[in-house]
Amino acid sequence: MTHIVIVGGGVGGLELATALGRKLGRKGTAEVTLIDRNHTHIWKPLLHEVASGSLDAELDAVNYRVHAHRNGFHFELGTLCGVDRSHKRIQLAPLVDDTGDEILPHREKAYDYLVLAVGSVSNDFNVEGVSQHCIFLDSPGQAQVFHQRLVDRFIRLDQELESGQVDRKLRIAIVGGGATGVELSAELFKAREWFSTYGLKTITPNHLEVSLIEAGPRLLPALNERISAGAHRELLKLGVKVRVATAVVSASKEGLTTKEGELIRADLMVWAAGVKAPGYLAGIEGVETNRMGQLLVEPTLQLKGDPDIYALGDCAGFGMTGPDGEQRWVPPRAQSAHQMAACIASNLRRRLKDKPQQPFQYKDMGSLVSLSEYSAFGRLMGGLARGGISLEGKVARLAYVSLYRMHQAAIHGWPRAMLLAFTDKINHFIRPRFKLH
Ligand SMILES: Cc1cc2nc3c(=O)[nH]c(=O)nc-3n(C[C@H](O)[C@H](O)[C@H](O)COP(=O)(O)OP(=O)(O)OC[C@H]3O[C@@H](n4cnc5c(N)ncnc54)[C@H](O)[C@@H]3O)c2cc1C
Repeated sequence: MTHIVIVGGGVGGLELATALGRKLGRKGTAEVTLIDRNHTHIWKPLLHEVASGSLDAELDAVNYRVHAHRNGFHFELGTLCGVDRSHKRIQLAPLVDDTGDEILPHREKAYDYLVLAVGSVSNDFNVEGVSQHCIFLDSPGQAQVFHQRLVDRFIRLDQELESGQVDRKLRIAIVGGGATGVELSAELFKAREWFSTYGLKTITPNHLEVSLIEAGPRLLPALNERISAGAHRELLKLGVKVRVATAVVSASKEGLTTKEGELIRADLMVWAAGVKAPGYLAGIEGVETNRMGQLLVEPTLQLKGDPDIYALGDCAGFGMTGPDGEQRWVPPRAQSAHQMAACIASNLRRRLKDKPQQPFQYKDMGSLVSLSEYSAFGRLMGGLARGGISLEGKVARLAYVSLYRMHQAAIHGWPRAMLLAFTDKINHFIRPRFKLH
């Protein structure tokens, strides 16, 4: 039987495995295996909420093994470390526990068709000290590490203020004025409110200093100027110290140093200044990559030079022509991964029927940015909205939340997704509104 192996159960990979499991795996037309380095899936655009505590990763996570059982595919825990294209085998690194004990040895796995959906990692652009002193939000584990440090720092600050050290405050610096940095900045102010509500009463808005640092001339450079200006205005209202046109040249224990030599002091630092594909992909023999390390793909999403390997999402380099005729790459966003997953699901099914492969076409459906529960901004494209419509406030927030609901529907089906939405509403009343540990 044809064996389809998908590596990476993120936004695109999990949707693809689910679709193929239901259409092919359940009927015994093909064996579908999903491999991920984690046991559970969290929708990556929610990681800033895991970091702040407004989302409890343990409640929202989808267990891969259970999901595979329900949807007709297999799940295997493993970390991809190489691909032997000539023998059509992938290599998985040994799995060790936290004491260093080996659970599984180095393994190889054969495939007929392979889909690489391993996402991206933060790009520190080799800026000195960043990897040692800054936290990245690339995985649920990293988001939880940030959350734990945030909790610890708030508790310490409360103690210091109670003991009369009135000049103390918590200083958090975030590098990168894209969606992650903007959304996290607002989330931190919500976190401060909840900590104060739940007992750390000494901590007022004046005791939290959030600096958002962007090298370019404006926040949200990938979105239109209206959204960018709206988000900038709202962040200033919340009290965020927004610094545009400020390049960070090094990070140390004390904080971040700018190109002008200024030290921005910080107790916690987050680096969210852009992404690149994981480095090991470029090491696969015979593949071509772009400047971001993404695997170059044909219009059908098959790797250039290897029609049996497909790539999707953040790790795929798909060239397209922009609205002004300029050449650009499909942006590393959830909607790209979602659309590519649908295209590969269709192409793999066509392949099994010996039908020709169809080209991928990226449709920009717009962008939404949420500033926690304070506000949201966005622009929706397509459908009735010729040229797009701008959204703001509650409507934009609703549209933002519905993106996650659509992902849940893609992996669970609409009935279960509606039930999950209902459960969230109930949890809103019966569980703490914020994760405090
Ligand atoms: C805080 C934050 C907010 C964001 N907000 C938005 C937003 O509002 N809108 C938007 O469109 N996009 C947003 N994004 C970007 C979006 O999350 C990504 O573009 C999207 O997740 C890419 O999907 P993917 O399937 O390519 O990869 P991912 O969703 O990142 O999934 C990759 C998967 O591969 C697994 N993996 C990685 N390496 C290996 C390996 N070696 N072996 C096995 N498994 C591996 C990972 O565990 C993960 O499950 C945000 C990102 C972040 C971090």
